Amino acid sequence: SVLSSNEIRRRFIDYFVKENDHTYIKSSPVVPYNDPTIAFVNAGMCQFKTVLLGQRTLAANRVANSQKCIRVGGKHNDLDVVGSDGYHHSFFEMLGNWSFGHYGKAEACRLAWNLLTSPPYNIPTEQLYCTVFNGDKTLNVEADNETLQIWKHIGVNDDHIVMNGANDNFWEMGETGPCGPCTEIHIDYPPSGGKNLIELWNIVFIQYSRERNTMHKLPNYFIDTGMGLERLTMVLQDKTSTYDTDLFSSIFNIIFNACRISKYTGLFDGTSLDTYYRVLADHGRMITIALSDNMLPSQNHKLRRLIRKSFILAETNFKIHPGYTLMCDIANEVSNNLGHVKHLIKHEYTIFNKLRMSVLKDWKMVVEECPMLNSFNPYEECTGFVPACNYLIKHKNMSSIPAFTLYDTFGLEKKTIGRLSQVMGRPVSWNELDDKLKKLQTKTTENIKRKSNNYMIGNIPKTDDSFKYEVIRHSNESYLLPIV
Ligand code: ATP
Ligand code: MG
Ligand code: MG
Ligand code: MG
Repeated sequence: SVLSSNEIRRRFIDYFVKENDHTYIKSSPVVPYNDPTIAFVNAGMCQFKTVLLGQRTLAANRVANSQKCIRVGGKHNDLDVVGSDGYHHSFFEMLGNWSFGHYGKAEACRLAWNLLTSPPYNIPTEQLYCTVFNGDKTLNVEADNETLQIWKHIGVNDDHIVMNGANDNFWEMGETGPCGPCTEIHIDYPPSGGKNLIELWNIVFIQYSRERNTMHKLPNYFIDTGMGLERLTMVLQDKTSTYDTDLFSSIFNIIFNACRISKYTGLFDGTSLDTYYRVLADHGRMITIALSDNMLPSQNHKLRRLIRKSFILAETNFKIHPGYTLMCDIANEVSNNLGHVKHLIKHEYTIFNKLRMSVLKDWKMVVEECPMLNSFNPYEECTGFVPACNYLIKHKNMSSIPAFTLYDTFGLEKKTIGRLSQVMGRPVSWNELDDKLKKLQTKTTENIKRKSNNYMIGNIPKTDDSFKYEVIRHSNESYLLPIV
């Protein structure tokens, strides 16, 4: 029988927690805590960063969880491919296990391989490929022959082992700090003699610390792994994309019931409504999770833009009016914090409508005053673009374009500010923007100094239903988000 996504997640947790002595740690909210370098939690390791940096130790040295992740900005930005490929999402769940100085490479590889290839997952070994770090001269790190031997010993064929350079198989947190080689398990899916490799599981060996140009071997190294639940579910449910799994079917039903135009048919030809179905379902999940976790659109422009983009998709492509009702229906399917989410979505809709009305009225006037702006789309990025132009016209005498105001108050992207500056022939105060953003980030870090233990060691939820994304708050403190 086919496993449901809930059963697949449960099996992962049970395997590590019940059968292999790991401690279950809850997903953190998607709002980063005390970390000004990211706008969203984008990996399972985020809540363990201080452990990896050696700033604290955990009582448990082997842990496992399923972490809610969002990748729409910064180093990890998958937004461009969402909807057009069948396995990158803006929001996804990362199943992960960690060893903090306990087991090493051989055990990490064995645990992963054994889980994937034995019941109930039962993935055929012929479909699995392993990548291994090939060494890098500039980094001064040698090839990871140990891992190569481990895979061979496990029984992986030579022609299923791929050696890669630092771009693919060396993980670093930043310019300095913990880093190390990784090994990935890919799946040839659908099977095609090794042509359709999709990354399934990434196993990172944090065995070095980088200080400027020197690598130090860490005395006690860490294992950090992550596997996408959506991709694993696609494989185990034998579907052509993650969107054909039970994680998305109910959301597609909601969209169809609201629009009644045509059902989702799973095509990737770029001509049917299917791409919009995928984008809307994906964004609906991401928005719901972010709002449920207490992220505020007024503090995170990326989130606000995606909400507005979804309203537009619902109204233009699916002819659903008003657009926010669909978002609320999707939220109902995904979150158990519906009241809160609905309230925020409605509020966003109200202010977006006000903005749209003022845009209609004001754009003509702006272009009359400043004809060279005609090359812009007034709805640029779903932001306060037109009010920003109005502001610039009113403040003609400013020596430079005030980047921070445009960025923070009107929500413009840096590249739009750059284009405006070019077209209008006015310089931009980039330095001021950088300074103010930095100050904001420092303030953020100070404001949310941690008072207590942020790791939520919990019991495994009893029923599958309770995995319906829980709302988790660290405390009653409000989150001040850095804008990245
Ligand atoms: P890819 O190369 O496919 O973009 P990645 O190397 O960026 O993946 P990692 O940072 O190694 O991904 O994350 C660990 C795992 O999380 C991946 O092996 C994959 O299964 C899953 N994953 C990563 N990004 C996404 C995404 N945008 N949507 C769904 N699953 C993802
Ligand atoms: Mg990626
Ligand atoms: Mg990758
Ligand atoms: Mg990877």
